[in-house]
Amino acid sequence: MEIIARQSTPGPELLKALRKVLPMHCILADPEDTRPYECDALTTYKQLAFIVVLPENETQILAVMSICRELNIPIVPRGAGTGLSGGATPVEFGLVLSTAKLNKILRVDAYARTAVVQPGVRNLAISDAAASSGLYYAPDPSSQLACTIGGNLAENAGGVHCLKYGLTVHNVLRARVVTMDGEVLELGSEALDAPGLDLLSVFIGSEGMLGIVTEITVKLIPKPTTAQVIMASFKQIEKAGEAVAQIIARGIIPAGLEMMDQISIRMVEPFVNAGYDINAAAILLCESDGNPEEVADDIARMSQILMDAGASELTVSNTEAQRLKLWSGRKNAFPAAGRISPDYYCVDGTIPRKHLSAMLKAIADMSEKYGLACANVFHAGDGNLHPLILFDANQESAFAKAEAFGAEILALCVAMGGTITGEHGVGIEKLNSMCVQFQETELRAFYAVKQAFDPWNLLNPGKAIPSLHRCAEMGRMHVHQGQLRFPDLPRF
Ligand SMILES: Cc1cc2nc3c(=O)[nH]c(=O)nc-3n(C[C@H](O)[C@H](O)[C@H](O)COP(=O)(O)OP(=O)(O)OC[C@H]3O[C@@H](n4cnc5c(N)ncnc54)[C@H](O)[C@@H]3O)c2cc1C
Repeated sequence: MEIIARQSTPGPELLKALRKVLPMHCILADPEDTRPYECDALTTYKQLAFIVVLPENETQILAVMSICRELNIPIVPRGAGTGLSGGATPVEFGLVLSTAKLNKILRVDAYARTAVVQPGVRNLAISDAAASSGLYYAPDPSSQLACTIGGNLAENAGGVHCLKYGLTVHNVLRARVVTMDGEVLELGSEALDAPGLDLLSVFIGSEGMLGIVTEITVKLIPKPTTAQVIMASFKQIEKAGEAVAQIIARGIIPAGLEMMDQISIRMVEPFVNAGYDINAAAILLCESDGNPEEVADDIARMSQILMDAGASELTVSNTEAQRLKLWSGRKNAFPAAGRISPDYYCVDGTIPRKHLSAMLKAIADMSEKYGLACANVFHAGDGNLHPLILFDANQESAFAKAEAFGAEILALCVAMGGTITGEHGVGIEKLNSMCVQFQETELRAFYAVKQAFDPWNLLNPGKAIPSLHRCAEMGRMHVHQGQLRFPDLPRF
């Protein structure tokens, strides 16, 4: 993990300054209180938080940032801490800034179909607040009960329904952001387009490295009147992969198109009794939503394509309860993994859909090579893989093996024309894989953007962008006579 090394703790001076701008109940400094913030959902990386602050408004955030700038203290923004790449993991002698108290829904405008919310509002709470107007917020990460919209924006979160409705970037209209030099920026607009450079898109997915988001306007869309899901079983995984490609190629955009392999099915079924075929090599869940006629048409067309592609069995939900039951297995895949293995490591990469079967075959081979089981449960429609590598952290070097396995999958994603993350971000987890994905020239451009907003490198340092030295050590950077070509670039 790349951290800012400091000679000594700036504790007393920092605490004194923070107490002048924050009420006592907004500052946690006792290790017992800061322990819950030592990691996000990537629990294998831990760092005890030095100080945690929980500001109640934007003015307090600005005051904290000003103190940190003066005392040269790194800041790690934090939403609910459900991130899977270590984005909210504290840095040594840094301060964690939690948005937990910024949890108000400021406005739901049913006429404009927008909601204005603070960053600490939970994803699902937005849809709950809009439900009485027949509206909802579409991006639905499986963690939506807990994760915050601020964290979603910082990670450009996705979910089952993002194939049809887009990722966070397609559903956020405007954000208010405070930068390290104390400026407040209004990015985007509630209108269809905003003039000027599209800085909103630059901030979305920037993993808390450019500024702290203090207010967000999201799009709301009408809740579809009907939704139905098909569960299709396949005896061969390649045929399931082919069916996915066929559905998209025929111009259908399902509301969700997910795949689970046999290990996942057998892991989940005893846990939730979703009605999955435990003898299938893979199942697909294909959903359609809209008005009843559209849904009936999509379901008929998708059923035909699935049968033509070699499905051995189809179940179509006839009631809302049955639809939710069929989804319950997919939605509970991560907790189910926790029941069969002491630890699991969730990999997140994307590939073009046409390579799905080749990738699954390669993962099976790697599973043998590393001696670790791997369950595949993923957003097949957009080629976003989530191999869950099962391991026991109590066994020596088991996590190192799991990480090497994950890194090999991600390198293959890049080789197949995909990317090293679909929705979970880079954080500290995928710094090495960034050296595989990008050349020095692209990394330089990332540094330049980071420097433009945070020349002190105080916001979430050591995350998301690998140092050139790191890439050089991996043999991914050109070093001439022991000298990097751009020694002036920050080493983070
Ligand atoms: C069981 C489970 C299922 C999941 N399923 C999905 C899924 O389907 N799709 C998906 O995309 N992700 C999924 N995730 C990952 C995670 O929930 C998302 O990345 C989510 O967006 C993180 O939100 P959070 O509030 O927990 O943010 P955190 O984990 O607290 O932080 C994430 C990043 O955002 C930054 N950040 C947080 N708030 C702010 C702010 N106000 N301003 C600037 N930066 C900020 C942090 O510094 C950090 O870099 C899952 C996680 C779990 C545990």
